[in-house]
Amino acid sequence: MKITKNQILNVEIIDLTYEGKGLAKIDNYPLFIDDALPGEEVEVKILKVNKNYGFAKILKFNKKSPYRVEIDDAIYMKTGIAPLQHLKYEEQLKFKKQQVINVLHKFNLNESVANTVGMDNYTHYRNKAQVPFRKIDNKLITGFYKQKSHDFIPMTTFYLHEDKIDETLAKVCKILNKYKVSSYDELTHQGVLRHIIIRKGHYSGELMVTLVTRKNKLFKGKSIAKEIMNDCPEVVSVMQNVNSEKTNVILGNVTKKLAGTEYLTDYMLGNEFKIAANSFYQVNTIQAERLYQKGLELAGLNKDNIVIDAYCGIGTITLAIAPYVKHVYGVEVVDEAIENAKSNAKLNNIENTTFVANKAEEQIVTWKKSGIKPDVVFVDPPRKGLDNTFVETLRELKPKKIIYISCNPATFARDVKKLSDLYCLGEVYPYDLFPETTHVEVVAKLTLR
Ligand code: SAH
Repeated sequence: MKITKNQILNVEIIDLTYEGKGLAKIDNYPLFIDDALPGEEVEVKILKVNKNYGFAKILKFNKKSPYRVEIDDAIYMKTGIAPLQHLKYEEQLKFKKQQVINVLHKFNLNESVANTVGMDNYTHYRNKAQVPFRKIDNKLITGFYKQKSHDFIPMTTFYLHEDKIDETLAKVCKILNKYKVSSYDELTHQGVLRHIIIRKGHYSGELMVTLVTRKNKLFKGKSIAKEIMNDCPEVVSVMQNVNSEKTNVILGNVTKKLAGTEYLTDYMLGNEFKIAANSFYQVNTIQAERLYQKGLELAGLNKDNIVIDAYCGIGTITLAIAPYVKHVYGVEVVDEAIENAKSNAKLNNIENTTFVANKAEEQIVTWKKSGIKPDVVFVDPPRKGLDNTFVETLRELKPKKIIYISCNPATFARDVKKLSDLYCLGEVYPYDLFPETTHVEVVAKLTLR
């Protein structure tokens, strides 16, 4: 059957893609359909026809999924804040487990995958907000972009942020309006305020506000910051980050203090952490603790062990490991994060750690040359996974165990495959750090054969 644009068809949804789109097939031609769930029968209009696949939108539901959650206002789905909001939470957890199984199968890895560990309260879990602005009727308004576009949708509540964050956002916005701060315009590359970032210590309750501006100069910046601290007693730090590039990347290279401290304090797995504005910190503290705890349990550490924690950030995993082993070496590419990690070790009276600011793939080679022989290597890389040099060096170092924590099962499976002649993969444990979205984290142990 020939598919053409604007054609109207009745289709059955057979799967949910890793991006959360419904999948239908017409004579093996895949159609991707927003907001459609497996088992549903829908009337669709074809929007776009590519050579190997197409896109369609729903006109009418003929049969709905029993797992559908009816949503009055789909604003959080449209913006991509909560693309799985229409699917019951238990089904989201099953979907995520299946995603992990699917990517493992692609690499001929048939290890068992545990059920996804979910949350009891799966909204308002994010300890961090990153919100863009627009000036509408001469007033700064917070909002979000429509998915994969630059259409701005005004919004003041963001559904996934921890309590206090949206409230603080509104107060900060009011102060910025009082000082007549202009909003950044992507098209003309004019205006001042690009984003506001609010971070909250999940356990401490402390808040850090970062104003991302186009130029170094923020008129009355210090007065604005003081007023924010006065109006919001939980705010301990107001920072300014300067990003003068024409880019979608939120943070620029320069960060300076406007008021309060240069860091936020929080706790993870019993340790206290100071976190700078540029340092990575998991956005879902409760689930990150569970994930890391599982990694520790899988590692079965002892007091003779030498351990490497690669991609260590501010040292969250490093400091959790340290009491159980002889020595831990942490490596991380962001200088500020390593500065934090070093002072966090002191703060928690931990003396058996070494932290280096470098690329993990370079530092592991240096450590190998200097004769460091790790028994266990923890890795927690960004979405792109492990660098090839890193994998090669692991193959030469041959630690007895590798604990792989990943925010992207696809690169996790790829990297495991590269090691699978030398290492045997154990059960893979998915954790839901991002409920209502399509993301999933996993942890697994690789044991030297
Ligand atoms: N385990 C840490 C951080 C994990 S996120 C925590 O729990 O907070 C991944 C980290 O890898 C980030 O801090 C990022 O800055 C860092 N990173 C990215 N590329 C890197 C590289 N090539 N070498 C070392 N660190 C890198």
